[in-house]
Amino acid sequence: MTTTRTTCPYCGVGCGVLATPQPDGSVAIAGDPDHPANFGRLCSKGSALGETLSLDGRLLHPEINGARATWDDALNLVAARFQATIAEHGPNSVAIYGSGQLLTEDYYVANKLMKGFIGSANIDTNSRLCMASSVAGHKRAFGSDTVPGNYEDLELADLIVLVGSNLGWCHPVLYQRIVAAKAARPDMRVVLIDPRRTVTADIADLHLPVQSDGDSALFVGLLAHLSRNGVTAPAFVTDHTSGAEAALLVAEDWPIARVATATGLSEHAITLFYDWFARTEKTVTVYSQGVNQSASGSDKVNAIINCHLLTGRIGRPGMGPFSVTGQPNAMGGREVGGLANMLAAHMDFTPEAIERVGRFWGSDNVAQNPGLKAVDLFAAMARGQIKAVWIMATNPVDSMPEADAVRAALAACPFVVVSDMSARTDTGVVAHVRLPAAGWGEKNGTVTNSERRISRQRPFLAAPGEARPDWWIVSQVAQRMGFDAAFAYTSPAEIFAEHTALSAFENDGARDFDLTGLLGADYDSLTPTQWPIRNKPAARMFGAGAFYTPDGKARFVPVLPPPPFAPAPGSFILNTGRVRDHWHTMTRTGKAARLSAHYAEPFVEIHPQDAEALNIRRATLVRLNNNHGTAIVRALVTDRQRRGHVFVPMHWTDQFASHGRVDALVTAKVDPVSAQPALKMALVHAEPVAVRLYGFFVAAHRPSLDTSDYWAIAEAPGGVRGELAWFEEPADWEAWLRSAFALPDTIRMLSALDTRSGRRSFAVMADGKLIAALYTSPDPVLVSRQWAVGLLTADKLDGSAVLAGRPGADMPDSGAIVCSCFSVGINTIAAAVTGQGCTTVEAVGACTKAGTNCGSCRAEIRGIIDAHRLAAAE
Ligand code: SF4
Repeated sequence: MTTTRTTCPYCGVGCGVLATPQPDGSVAIAGDPDHPANFGRLCSKGSALGETLSLDGRLLHPEINGARATWDDALNLVAARFQATIAEHGPNSVAIYGSGQLLTEDYYVANKLMKGFIGSANIDTNSRLCMASSVAGHKRAFGSDTVPGNYEDLELADLIVLVGSNLGWCHPVLYQRIVAAKAARPDMRVVLIDPRRTVTADIADLHLPVQSDGDSALFVGLLAHLSRNGVTAPAFVTDHTSGAEAALLVAEDWPIARVATATGLSEHAITLFYDWFARTEKTVTVYSQGVNQSASGSDKVNAIINCHLLTGRIGRPGMGPFSVTGQPNAMGGREVGGLANMLAAHMDFTPEAIERVGRFWGSDNVAQNPGLKAVDLFAAMARGQIKAVWIMATNPVDSMPEADAVRAALAACPFVVVSDMSARTDTGVVAHVRLPAAGWGEKNGTVTNSERRISRQRPFLAAPGEARPDWWIVSQVAQRMGFDAAFAYTSPAEIFAEHTALSAFENDGARDFDLTGLLGADYDSLTPTQWPIRNKPAARMFGAGAFYTPDGKARFVPVLPPPPFAPAPGSFILNTGRVRDHWHTMTRTGKAARLSAHYAEPFVEIHPQDAEALNIRRATLVRLNNNHGTAIVRALVTDRQRRGHVFVPMHWTDQFASHGRVDALVTAKVDPVSAQPALKMALVHAEPVAVRLYGFFVAAHRPSLDTSDYWAIAEAPGGVRGELAWFEEPADWEAWLRSAFALPDTIRMLSALDTRSGRRSFAVMADGKLIAALYTSPDPVLVSRQWAVGLLTADKLDGSAVLAGRPGADMPDSGAIVCSCFSVGINTIAAAVTGQGCTTVEAVGACTKAGTNCGSCRAEIRGIIDAHRLAAAE
């Protein structure tokens, strides 16, 4: 069996993966011990990669208007429609919307086609939703989009400040590296700045539950505090920066008392944080979507960078501002120019750069100005200005703000092309042409992670059906549009070589993105390496105080914090984000049963007092709405959430839930500098849903659920599981079940009714195996989900036991899954704590295996241990 060295396709950590296809068709996955991002670690998502590779739901053939087509017909049609649209309405009437899922080679070709040959810069990407504010902040401060530090800095730091970053779930391997470093150096401190008390708080010595968008004020106040107390690096500031006076002038108006008002934090907590920051030279400030996804995201980034510039803590081991990206190749997209406001290879739309890139590409039709950024692009489509769009490897119908309006804009667009590996996406539904793209394990190329490290993604599976790599698809369309010579690529290695050459082209060191050292490199054997690489890779940038601004000095940016945000009475601030085990719109992680076991349904986290005030009970359904849309989600009542704030995960689509598309509720308000939307700050109303009956089912096959008023479905071992609700009770239960589960008339259905409670149960079996079981109740159904899921793989079932809905001695209930690597439930962990005396996470791991693989669940295990300790003490 051959093992392939590749890279995880999910988050921006960019972990190395060893993939080994097995004789039975499965693929064994392990962390690459030699990859400098993870040194062998993987998180729950990475560990389950082998379970996402089935062909179920794959788009295997090109389609035109829903009918199978040949590649020739589909490619000719795309080329012809783009050409005709450009001829009639000009180059700015067409657009490409790409993704941080694309490999650098795919991105490069798409960018070259749009900006270099179509002559429009209307190519933007879902990375606009992820880290555009970091790009803008970097460019304002450094003159270039450069991440100064690396992951090792997180282990060398004495203080790590995590801002708007749930590293424990969103970048779990980085989190584990910090956990290990902190265990080795107990004096290392971690501060978490986040409105929510996320699992990342488990490693925090100080959690600052800052008011949404209060982080600008917190860092502006820190700048003033540092200056007031003489914690500055005068020589560095004088010799290597500009603009400190102006930034400090604004900051002086932000004493701690004012910061406290703007942030909702106590003066004591703020002072403690400021003192730690002031006293600790080796400080890294890590920030991600909580900073970027804001209408003032760019200012937040610069407020953070200002503090590092004032103290000279940048570019040296264990210190610096550090943006961690959400997606596997957000950085690669930035490198090639995948954002509408960047030209290529980190060059902007200056006359010199346009002329240089035109010469390099052999084109006299290079776009002269930036194009439409994501929110503006779909708004222009709604107005009829964009008449043909090509969407690659992303799902804007779910992920864009005001997602219902985006769906309407796409539905009205005269020509929509979608390239995707998945046949079932909400965006694919509105496409005129669907093109089957190769997926992870089949693709061949490079990605760049958050520390500027370029790694190879290598194929270990043949592309199924007629699926093709994205670079090939784009090149074929480009050739059919008449640009044959410029797109005559036969391999990703050729594209990478051209990308490398462009980065080095007339680059005398004035541009940060420089791959000179990779010119002529053997693509196949490329090892993970950091850019810029002239003679040797640069582990850190700016340590010598040389920046990419015209005068070579870093720039302070005066930041005026936004006024405190006071929602109208009855409104909640909606925060959106990720859960531990799912990725984006679940087209891949949704295939793995064990990744769906942690959270199998969309939910809203709401504070207990807010829930009580609204008469929202635990596990009931909640309707969230505003002018843009509606979502119905399960109530998760928790004091992790601030009062007045709610949190809903971003992952659920129409493929997995009836009303789970939370971005339909997010206003398309953007940061004025970066144009990144404020995905963490919508305003919504919340109310309980008047449910007549709740339901829960397990079934061997996916049922049709449109006759329920609410549903959510997830993969389970041996079938599917789902949650249901009805506003009116179905008149004929047998008819409902036979229709939903497609049961033949001949099959017998068992049922039971508890007239006192109104609870019903139904079971359909054949030869002692379960086909479907449904439990309904006027209250949220109490049946153990894990026990019921276990019925799908059990033999010789007793129908009365299934109807009873209670675990018997033969099938104990492990409870809700906490450790998805080993499918260990909360009841099993609790039993280890109470029955076997386990008082540490390690002891629980030794008893149950929970938390012993990826470690992503260790904070939750600690929470269970603590809860039992508290209960025992009372
Ligand atoms: S942390 Fe997890 S999701 Fe992110 S790259 Fe590593 S294995 Fe993949």
